[in-house]
Amino acid sequence: MDHFQYRSGEMFAEEVALSRIADDVGTPFYCYSTATLERHYRVFAEALNGLDAGICYAVKANSNIAVIATLARLGAGADVVSIGEMKRALVAGVPAAKILFSGVGKTQAEMAAALKAGVLQINVESAPELETLSNVASSLGIDANVAIRVNPDVDAMTHEKIATGKSENKFGVGWPDVPGVYARAAALPGIRVTGVAVHIGSQILSLDPFRKAYGKVVDLVGTLRAAGHGIEHLDLGGGLGIPYAGEQPPTPEEYGNMVKDVVGDLDCKIFFEPGRLITGNAGVLVTRVIRVKKGTARSFVIVDAAMNDLLRPTLYNAHHAIVPVIEAPDGANNTEVEVVGPICETGDTFGKQMLPEPGEGDLLAIRTAGAYGAVMASVYNTRPLVPEVMVNGADVLVIRERITVDDMLAREILPDWLASG
Ligand SMILES: *Cc1c(COP(=O)(O)O)cnc(C)c1O
Repeated sequence: MDHFQYRSGEMFAEEVALSRIADDVGTPFYCYSTATLERHYRVFAEALNGLDAGICYAVKANSNIAVIATLARLGAGADVVSIGEMKRALVAGVPAAKILFSGVGKTQAEMAAALKAGVLQINVESAPELETLSNVASSLGIDANVAIRVNPDVDAMTHEKIATGKSENKFGVGWPDVPGVYARAAALPGIRVTGVAVHIGSQILSLDPFRKAYGKVVDLVGTLRAAGHGIEHLDLGGGLGIPYAGEQPPTPEEYGNMVKDVVGDLDCKIFFEPGRLITGNAGVLVTRVIRVKKGTARSFVIVDAAMNDLLRPTLYNAHHAIVPVIEAPDGANNTEVEVVGPICETGDTFGKQMLPEPGEGDLLAIRTAGAYGAVMASVYNTRPLVPEVMVNGADVLVIRERITVDDMLAREILPDWLASG
C-alpha cells in the first residue's frame, strides 16, 4: 500500500498533484511520500511485536536525511556502511547508540570515527578486520562492541548481484572459520563480543532462505555460548523483497512469525536492517517525455530521466512499473512501447511497458523508485543529480536541490599549462 494514487485522473502524492511539483521544480525529480514511509515502518515494527527487537533502517537504500529523520522519529535506528552514512544518521537525529556499523571494507579512519561516536555495534566481516579494529580500539582506549558477520552459505535466490550469503560472495566470515574468529575475538584487547550478524541478500521473495540462514545462526549461537562467548545480540539483516511487477513477497507478518518461530527462544535482542521494504514503494521518479520515436520494431518513448538517475533497470535487469501522471482518457488502448533515456548506451532503458502511447511533454511516474534510486545516481553524460522532494500531507519540500552543470564544472580545474596564452 502506498500513497501515490489517482484523483480525478491525476496522480497525487498524498494531497499533492505530481504535475504541480513538476511545474515547480522541473523534471526529472524523485518524490517521496511521508505517509508511505511511516506506514511501511509501522507494519514492519508491528510484525515484530513480542520480540525484543530493534529496527535499524539500512540507510544505503535511501540516505536522504529527511527520509532517515522521518524514520528516526518513529524510533528507528540505522544500519550504516560508511562514515558518510553514519554522519547522515547522526544529523538526522538517530542516536549513536542505535547505529550499527556494517560493511566489508571499513577503513581505520572509519573504525575510529565510529568508536568515538559510540555506535551500538560494529559488524566485523573478516579475521584481518578484527585485528585492525582491536588495534584501533586499543589505541583509543575504547572497547568495540562487535558482532561477527557470518556467511551461512545459503542461496537467497535473488539476483546474483544482490546475493550476499553464499560462500563465493565477499561478505561475512566463512562458516567453517566462524568458531576460530570468535575465539580470537575473545582474546583480543579492545574487542567486546556482543553478537552474531547475518545478511544474505536483497529483494528476497521467499521465506525459505531466511529460515535456513537463521536456523544455522541459532545452532551457531548454541555452539558459541557453549564455548563461553556471551551472545546478547542477533542481527538478522534486511533483504525482504517488495513487489515491483506483481511479485508476491512474504508479508512482514509472515516474516515476523517465521523469525519468532526460529529464533524466538534465544534470549537475545534481535536487530533487523530493512531498507528496500521501508522506502521502495515510498518513492517515484517523475519524468517528462522529450519525444516519441517510431522505431522499426516498436515506439521508443524518450524521457528526460535516464540510467544515471535510476540505475536498477540496467544494473539488475529490474522492472519498474511506469504510469502516466495524467490518466489517459477512457477507451485509450495500451500499446507496447519502450521507455528509454537520452544517454548514449543501449542499456539506458526503463524497459518495455504497456502504456497508452504518451505524447511529447507528457509526465510519467516510474514507480517503486524510493529504494536504491537517488542513492545510486551518477552524473554520467554530465547530467546533474536530480532533486528529491518530500510530501507530507499537503506539504511539499525540496529535500535535495538540483545540482547544476555550473556546480559540477566549478569543481573541475583547467591546468594552467593548457590555458591559452
Ligand atoms: C543492503 C543491506 C541491508 C538492506 O537490504 P534491503 O534488501 O534493502 O532490506 C541490510 N543489511 C546490510 C548489511 C546490507 O548490506
